[in-house]
Order: sequence, then C-alpha cells, then structure tokens
Amino acid sequence: MINEFSRELPELKPNGRDREFKKYSDDIKARVLYEHLINNRTHRWLDINVLGITSGNTKGRDSANILYYLGMKADYRGLFGGQDIVDVISNLGNNHQDFKIAIELLNRNYELQRLEDVVGLDIESEEVEEGGLVEGGIKYRYVKSYERKLKNRLLAIKEHGVICKACNFDFKAVYGERGREYIEIHHIQQLSELSEPTEINPRTDLVPLCANCHRMIHRKKDEVLTINQLIEILEENKN
Ligand SMILES: [Zn+2]
Ligand SMILES: [Zn+2]
Repeated sequence: MINEFSRELPELKPNGRDREFKKYSDDIKARVLYEHLINNRTHRWLDINVLGITSGNTKGRDSANILYYLGMKADYRGLFGGQDIVDVISNLGNNHQDFKIAIELLNRNYELQRLEDVVGLDIESEEVEEGGLVEGGIKYRYVKSYERKLKNRLLAIKEHGVICKACNFDFKAVYGERGREYIEIHHIQQLSELSEPTEINPRTDLVPLCANCHRMIHRKKDEVLTINQLIEILEENKN
C-alpha cells in the first residue's frame, strides 16, 4: 500500500563537494534544510536569511551546495510543503535511500524550534508579569527587545545549559515538568552600560542563574556582584 509516508522521493544525486557543507554549523544547515524542504525557500533566500550572506552578489551558491552535497537537487524544494516536520522525518526514514544526515539535521531543527517556543513563552510570561505586554500579543515597541532577549537566551542555554552557575540549582529536578528548561540569563556586562549595541559573546557574557541567585546578584543596583562573589557568599553561609 502506498501511503504518504512511503511514497517515492526523487533520486538523491550527491555532488561530492563538501566545502560549503563543512563551512557552516549544524544548526545553520538544519535550518537551510528545513526552510528548503518544508517552506519552499529558494537558494537565494536561504543564502540571505539563513546563511547571512549580505554582500552584493549572492546567487544562492552556498545553500545550493549544502543541499547538493546531500543530493537534493531542485526537485526537493518544497517537496514537503507545509507538512509537520515529524512526519517528514518519518517519511525520509522509511525511504530506501540514505537520508541519515538529512534526518539528523531535521531532528536538530525540530529541537531548536521546540526550545525557541519554550524560551519565547518564558520571556512573554515575564513581560506580562511586569506589565510590559498584553497577554497573547507582543506590542510593537517590545518586539525588538523581545527578539534580542530570545536570541540571547537561546544562545546562552545552548552554550551553558540550564543549571544555575552559582548554586547548581536544577529547575527540572525540583519542579519536574513545570521547571523543565527554565533558567534566567544574567548579562555580565550590564545592558545599561552598553552605550551602543555590541555583539554579545554567549560564552563569556551570559551566565545561567536560578531566580534566587539572579536576584541576589542584582539586589543592590550600585553593587552588582560577580558570579564568584556570589559563590563566595554561598560558601560562607553554608552550614
Ligand atoms: Zn542559583
Ligand atoms: Zn542579571
């Protein structure tokens, strides 16, 4: 029986050129694949919006070569238009051709999107509590700060995980499902001190902290503690 999940897929024709494939991170390639197969995006669109190639003459060559390395020629664009990524992964897995790398990348994209949803809702909840946001919608003037927060928090979580760097608090361990993947992100350089937007390095500039530690670090606005100072305080008061 032929169903949606076992249908024939175009023959893979890998071009054997791995230069572009090696040049980009797995996260980026995952998004290239997702946007191409499911959202019907062109190579040119992918070069600009996913690979960030902004210089004059992007002809979509880099994203094309990423896809060609996987063997996916023009007939793969939009092949799974609008389908659920989980169904697409299952479809590829049931095919007789070797989609191992593509499946890994799509799984990665699925995980990235899931985390983005979780973190996005955390930020919305915080803004609702602080009165900056009407539930269910993002007011225009908050969009910029929302996007910046979302991006930084995702980068920080990917870099450092979701365990408090000062006291090792683990929200999931204490609160179960309700606490899964919750963490606050502390900026080592205070945002107000940054006169103009500078590129944030998540490894050195952002630190995951539990709500208690984060509040204690900021409790005195003129005397923000360093992570090590807070760790010392925790040590001193251990009994
Ligand atoms: Zn903590
Ligand atoms: Zn902070």
